[in-house]
Amino acid sequence: MYIVKLNKDNIVNMSNIELKNAGLKITLPRVKILSKLENAKNHHMSAEDIYKDLIKDGEVISLATVYRVLTQFEAAKIVIRHHFDADNNSQAVFELNHGDHHDHMVSLKTGKVVEFYDEIIENRQKELAKKHNFKILDHSMILYGEFLDEE
Ligand SMILES: [Zn+2]
Repeated sequence: MYIVKLNKDNIVNMSNIELKNAGLKITLPRVKILSKLENAKNHHMSAEDIYKDLIKDGEVISLATVYRVLTQFEAAKIVIRHHFDADNNSQAVFELNHGDHHDHMVSLKTGKVVEFYDEIIENRQKELAKKHNFKILDHSMILYGEFLDEE
């Protein structure tokens, strides 16, 4: 459904399609922010990360605009907002919504984020919910710690 590795022109076209599908008008800030998220190495970015990257590229944009666009993207389900806030003051991070569920491991040392999906954990949650007569609408699991190979 989603193609990440494309050349620059195609990425902009891809962004346009996505914006249209989401019912959002194509504006330059929206296209630029979407393409930042599509090209991000660490595909979990804060508004400030995106803002700093755009400024580095020589774009004229304000942090407030980045926030506003990300909030619009979230409402349109183009991005997912996460709060990896083990330290209580970290900012929200955003990632593109590929429609696949996954959970996260977050390093308290470096902020590195690794995604995982485990069928056994997923099934166990369903069993637990059933046992408690509970309907799961959503869930997110965040493991906090450190990777043993981190500096
Ligand atoms: Zn993720």
